[in-house]
Amino acid sequence: MKAIDFNRFNNIISLTSYFNTKEKCQQAIIESRWADGDVVCPYCGTHHCSKRGDGRFRCNHCLKNFSCLVGTIFENTKLPLIKWFVAMYLISSHKKGVSSHQLSRDLDITQASAWYMLQKIRLLYPQSDSEAFEGTVECDEVYIGGKEKWKHKSMRTPHTQGRSTKTKTPVFGMMERTYIEDEKGDVIPMSYVHAFVVEKTDKATLQPIIKQFVAEGSTVITDELNAYNGLNKLGYGHDIVNHGAEQYAIGDIFTNTIEGFWSHFRRMITGCYHDVSDEHLQQYIDEAVYRWNTRKMDESERFAHMFAKSIGLIVRWNEVKLCVAA
Ligand SMILES: [Zn+2]
Repeated sequence: MKAIDFNRFNNIISLTSYFNTKEKCQQAIIESRWADGDVVCPYCGTHHCSKRGDGRFRCNHCLKNFSCLVGTIFENTKLPLIKWFVAMYLISSHKKGVSSHQLSRDLDITQASAWYMLQKIRLLYPQSDSEAFEGTVECDEVYIGGKEKWKHKSMRTPHTQGRSTKTKTPVFGMMERTYIEDEKGDVIPMSYVHAFVVEKTDKATLQPIIKQFVAEGSTVITDELNAYNGLNKLGYGHDIVNHGAEQYAIGDIFTNTIEGFWSHFRRMITGCYHDVSDEHLQQYIDEAVYRWNTRKMDESERFAHMFAKSIGLIVRWNEVKLCVAA
């Protein structure tokens, strides 16, 4: 059994024409999930489960019956699979994301169902399973919320800062600057990002995150915030741009790449998701990070990547890099 080639779906018409029955959707899941027809029990991990007459499978060890949807984001869904596939396609092809209102109209489903779908699909973008960044890594913080929603800290007046931390949520980001090879074999600049909601922007909060996501020996570029003092002692090179002194770049020393990510995130939030509660902020950040890190992929590659995640295949960022380079 040869898994389906997702590169054929370069627009929504080709996707919906191909997946015109429930059986074809299920077949794609089965072929992608279990290469060579070796069906693995999602409950106990036993290989070579038997196919039943009703299209489901039976484990020869734990004797449980299961459908191909068990263990995927589609498990227990009452919505047709094609609607899920189209939702993933729309989400992966619209750079600024898709709102639940838009998705509900596009798929002819209730807004509540569309909201649920979006939340499920956002769970496909966890950042915790990533490899550590290395080389040159820009770090930066922004504050979200309140009237000054997206002002970078260097743009804010000092007198409002004390109050602002009560109404704004700090977000901390790290960005690896690197290069990838495109399909023509040209080496082009690329960057990968991680970003997280944090309690505070002090040293005790930020430096452990840097230690977790940035390999020792890397060069970290930051602004003059005190929280970054002492990174040298942790085994990092440390270059500083003093934004307070209106210094923005000294040769390669700048944080403009990650600031580009913050503005990408701002456009996504203001253009599509008008109200983002603190409770859901991290999920929106995860989505923005996913978009940024896969931005050199075309629609079909991004859809293939999202599909692989939806059926529980673990795809790490360095495999994304390989996908892009291949
Ligand atoms: Zn089993």
